[in-house]
Amino acid sequence: MTSNSEVQIVELSNGVFARLHNNLTNAGIIVGDDSVIIIDSLRVPSFARDLIKDVKHITNKPISHVIDTHSHWDHSWGNQEFPSAAIIGHDNCLKEMIDPKWNEQWRSKVVSSNESWSEEAKTVTITPPNITFSNSMYMEFGLHKIDIKYLGKAHTSGDIFIYLPDAKVLFTGDVAQNQGIPFFGDSYPNEWIQTSESMADISINAFMSGHGPIGAQNDLLDAKDFIQTLINNIMHSKSNGLGKDQTASVATNELKPRFGHWRKFEVLSDGISDIYDRL
Ligand SMILES: [Zn+2]
Repeated sequence: MTSNSEVQIVELSNGVFARLHNNLTNAGIIVGDDSVIIIDSLRVPSFARDLIKDVKHITNKPISHVIDTHSHWDHSWGNQEFPSAAIIGHDNCLKEMIDPKWNEQWRSKVVSSNESWSEEAKTVTITPPNITFSNSMYMEFGLHKIDIKYLGKAHTSGDIFIYLPDAKVLFTGDVAQNQGIPFFGDSYPNEWIQTSESMADISINAFMSGHGPIGAQNDLLDAKDFIQTLINNIMHSKSNGLGKDQTASVATNELKPRFGHWRKFEVLSDGISDIYDRL
């Protein structure tokens, strides 16, 4: 394990690494016989270049593949730094990343957020996947078999899971976090309930989310329970004619005892409002 104050690299299995970036976005690194797979290219090109530097500390092998867990900017706007790599994503991830309205909306949000990466975000060349699939993909990569699975819409329309069945390691993108609340603004709440059910059926030793620390099977089950409890609660309130504010207070009160200590719980009301609108 190597670490500085913000970035920590953890070996989850032989040649399989999680690069955890405190409060920002995580990336996965899988070292094969001749080359390397990156899972998520991070938020802007300079972040991708930092990731590439960290890969070079692990191995001299070139990066041949980038897998986009989904289309969101903080996971995929580093893609342009991998011009000769195969960039793999779901069909719907491609659709979102070539949608001018989608891109413009995200770019204006990121550029106006006044963060240290906002200026750089103005000039990002949004680079969508060049290999896509609809249900699943299978790769043999060095020591590891890799199942790339689409389990349905959830956090976006094109979330995928990267599963190494021999190591029992799963990369979940933003569909599940270990004790953190995901973003619901582009979500499909009706479908997310079933998608998280299928996800939690996968047998794991460890999972890396797009954000936050590594989790185990029980944490994955908790992430599923959180999503299902939240969305079912909002559905119930909405179908009983409750307005948004009342729905938010009912849902927050129900979830607080079990999930109140999770990251971003304090802004759960924004998520509840998004889900209410999207149901
Ligand atoms: Zn996301």
